[in-house]
Amino acid sequence: GHTDRRLPEGKLTEYKRFASDFNKILDAASKVDDSRSEFVSNVSHELKTPITSIKVLADSLNTGEDFPIEVYKEFMTDIVTEIDRESKIIDDLLALVRMDKSASALNITAVNMNEMLELVLRRLQPIAKKKNIDVLFESFRPVIANIDEVKMTRVITNLVENAIKYNESNGWVHVSLNADHQYFYIKVEDSGMGIPKESQDKVFDRFYRVDKARSRQTGGTGLGLSIVKNIILMHHGTIKLHSEEDVGTVFTIRVPINYVKEVK
Ligand code: ADP
Repeated sequence: GHTDRRLPEGKLTEYKRFASDFNKILDAASKVDDSRSEFVSNVSHELKTPITSIKVLADSLNTGEDFPIEVYKEFMTDIVTEIDRESKIIDDLLALVRMDKSASALNITAVNMNEMLELVLRRLQPIAKKKNIDVLFESFRPVIANIDEVKMTRVITNLVENAIKYNESNGWVHVSLNADHQYFYIKVEDSGMGIPKESQDKVFDRFYRVDKARSRQTGGTGLGLSIVKNIILMHHGTIKLHSEEDVGTVFTIRVPINYVKEVK
């Protein structure tokens, strides 16, 4: 009868487990593939945009007509802007790729967080001044943390740059530092345009920008926050975002004071 053709109970369970593991692997692989090919097509698109503009600008100067020198100068300025943009995209991409390759490449040293934050804010003062934005720093206690100073400087720089970029003229940015026995907390708060609810989950995605046109105008690549998140995760920290449109945005990071290499 048909019962003879049935696999023995033990074998059947084993086979089912194998089939389900196999499906899980295929599923994961297809997901990796999806996000990878999506990433590659995003990269190509982003890299092509400045090149296309440069070509159009150069072609129009090459039409054979004699334009006044002012036109040449204006177009050349635009070409330089596009080249700068392309460089920034490449720099950001390299930063991301390097982090992907070597999560273990943290260079951990004891860092005075108060001094680090003050230095970053001092460096960003000139761009804040251009928009007459007040940048305030408040420290609730001195913090010495074991972190990668270069990477964490990048985190704070990106967050404060955004807080200035996506802010109104005469607005404010408030940065604060606090700690308990385990973690330090840095808050970057701004009086800017805020992030719409439906975009809040996506702003950490590579190349995601709420408003492409505006972000491009301000020199954005859409990679800043994905770099930030990557670095925070490498430090086994968390990043949270609270935002309200036309009111402002708060990014809060929480990072262990003493980095411990994860044992797996
Ligand atoms: P970008 O290079 O475009 O600034 P980011 O990854 O740094 O890219 O940020 C992604 C998007 O999130 C930005 O394009 C912007 O729309 C939004 N965003 C980031 N920070 C803020 C902020 N402080 N206020 C409002 N919007 C922000």
